[in-house]
Amino acid sequence: MIIPGSFGVCNPEQKTIYLNLSFEEDRLLLSLAHEARHAVQFDRKTIPDFEHDTMKSQIMMARAMEVDAQRVACATGWELKQKGDEAPYKHFSNEDHLIAKAGFSWSNEL
Ligand SMILES: [Zn+2]
Repeated sequence: MIIPGSFGVCNPEQKTIYLNLSFEEDRLLLSLAHEARHAVQFDRKTIPDFEHDTMKSQIMMARAMEVDAQRVACATGWELKQKGDEAPYKHFSNEDHLIAKAGFSWSNEL
């Protein structure tokens, strides 16, 4: 079920999240947040039926879903960091510097 090299995957038909246990727990915490966000996206049916849309709009929707899921992973890592658990956010900021930078700016506004 897990694609080699990926951290995890959400299967909306099975209502299941799979995590790749070959990665560190600190990293998988944020993957769980990311995949849980995808589960919410699918469950709330916030994703329009774009099956008949153009390839361009399908790609745009897929990217928007990923950014949204990464935003939730970043916020989760940031909250853990604020509580003294810095490792998950450190993994995230090393891997997705742009989202982490945007998330940091956002968190400073709260
Ligand atoms: Zn994703």
